[in-house]
Amino acid sequence: MLSRRWRVISLGILLAFIGAVLPVAGMAWMSRQIATAKELDELDTFARRALLRATTTFQDAKKVLDAIEVSGFESCSLQHIEQMRALTMSISSIEEIGFFDGGMLKCTSWGEIAQQIHKQPGDYVTKDGMDVTMRLRPIASRGSEVTALYQGKHNALVLPSRFTDIVANDISVALYADGDKLLSSLNGPDLPFANLHLATAGRGMGEEYLFVTAKQEDMTAVVTRSRSGLRSKITDELAVFLPVGTFIALFIVGVVIWLSRKRLSPHAELEIAVRNKEFIVYYQPIVELETGICIGAEVLVRWKRPDGSLVRPDLFIPLAEETGLIKPITDQVVAAVVADLNVILAKDRTLHIAINLCAEDVETGRAVEVIDECLKATGIRKEQIWLEATERGFVNVEAARVTLKQARDMGHSVAIDDFGTGYSSLQYLQGLPLDALKIDKSFIDTIGRNTATSTVILHIIQMAKSLGLFLVAEGVESQLQADYLTEHGVDFGQGWLFSKPLPADEFIAYHRNSKTTSGEAPEIIQVAR
Ligand code: C2E
Ligand code: CA
Ligand code: CA
Repeated sequence: MLSRRWRVISLGILLAFIGAVLPVAGMAWMSRQIATAKELDELDTFARRALLRATTTFQDAKKVLDAIEVSGFESCSLQHIEQMRALTMSISSIEEIGFFDGGMLKCTSWGEIAQQIHKQPGDYVTKDGMDVTMRLRPIASRGSEVTALYQGKHNALVLPSRFTDIVANDISVALYADGDKLLSSLNGPDLPFANLHLATAGRGMGEEYLFVTAKQEDMTAVVTRSRSGLRSKITDELAVFLPVGTFIALFIVGVVIWLSRKRLSPHAELEIAVRNKEFIVYYQPIVELETGICIGAEVLVRWKRPDGSLVRPDLFIPLAEETGLIKPITDQVVAAVVADLNVILAKDRTLHIAINLCAEDVETGRAVEVIDECLKATGIRKEQIWLEATERGFVNVEAARVTLKQARDMGHSVAIDDFGTGYSSLQYLQGLPLDALKIDKSFIDTIGRNTATSTVILHIIQMAKSLGLFLVAEGVESQLQADYLTEHGVDFGQGWLFSKPLPADEFIAYHRNSKTTSGEAPEIIQVAR
């Protein structure tokens, strides 16, 4: 299983990667979208311009034809021809005006017609009634192809280029009328491509071109531009957006690194462990030295990591105390004791459980209240819970005195833990409300050795006795030590000689065995106060 550390690191790398790539890719994408949208907007403007140009041309022709129809001059008279010419000259998009009679062209703005020219059939009829013939090669003037607009007896000839007469360098226009009839084009559009996009108004991008299709009345303009120009426009946008993307990417990567480092810190790991309730407890039996009977146990907390490994308390208790996380840990320890041993503690009143208090708990008395609260709905008596406090908790002696007194008043027994390792002075010992003294393992280790400190243990024993405290020897590893301690009147012992710290079920079994093998149960330990 991947350890939490590696999970955080790999997640950090993944997020940093995403955080770096996404904003840059996002900005690149945005540059492209914006450049394309701008380009298409431009094409749209050209499409509208072309449609306006075409419509205006039709309207001009209509106006001219309306005017000539009602002039009332004699057909092909000098005045009639003169007026047709004047109108042709006045409207730039009109090349020529013609007069028909009986389906034959009789005269134009340039004069009478000698040839027999028939009226050509129309390709379609405009909304306002003009008959339109496209791609007509005027025989009269022999000019280039024109579009003829007929109304009544007259027609007006328009050069197709007049319909799309707009200024546009690299833009192509295909202008259609009456659906799909190509009326005019500008700058040689790709007609097969334009035909594909003729049906519906819209905009988009093909493989080679950007296009906009716009419609007005019966006309459609398909405006296209090669995609090659888009690249430089995207580059222009990138120049603006890429630095923003890079900045965002750097910011995100920075935040990810900062968060990962925070999550990887021992403090954060411990915090997560508290939240996930990763703390379990072991019970180390405490035995009556004379009889070997197990009279209780000390609760020792273990941090069980998600990978199953156990972390020793010395490695995390100091940090937990420093960061205040010891409080929820103590709560979890107390809850575990109740859950594990409620039944056996209610059944056997001679059984005791010692709980370690941290310095802050001794100073504030908070743990005592927590324990009190936890025991309420259980069958456990307060007398069955011993509290162990180290000298570190006695820095503020007055506060400690209040807490210890409160604990004893409730019924708990209170022991001073690791006695002799700190700056223990008889002075404060005398003044504190205590029941027991735990002799530190370092003194037990000196038993049987002729060292200078080996006599200290005798002084400790004596002092405890004169203060009326009962004694628990910690870290008893050999029979020699146990015998020595029994001989010198030490009441209880705890150590590997008897048992290592055990999980709850193994401790319960150990306790049961110790009672059956040792005969009678010991009396309830109640220290005289
Ligand atoms: P401690 O209160 O002095 O606990 C006794 C330590 O000595 C335990 O270590 C125990 O496993 C170890 N020990 C017992 N018998 C022997 C022995 O014969 N030989 C050897 N070599 N060691 C023995 P552990 O469990 O690692 O606990 C270390 C310390 O962590 C404890 O020292 C206590 O100060 C603290 N601690 C443990 N549980 C808690 C807790 O629930 N709350 C608080 N505040 N502190 C705790
Ligand atoms: Ca202890
Ligand atoms: Ca100790």
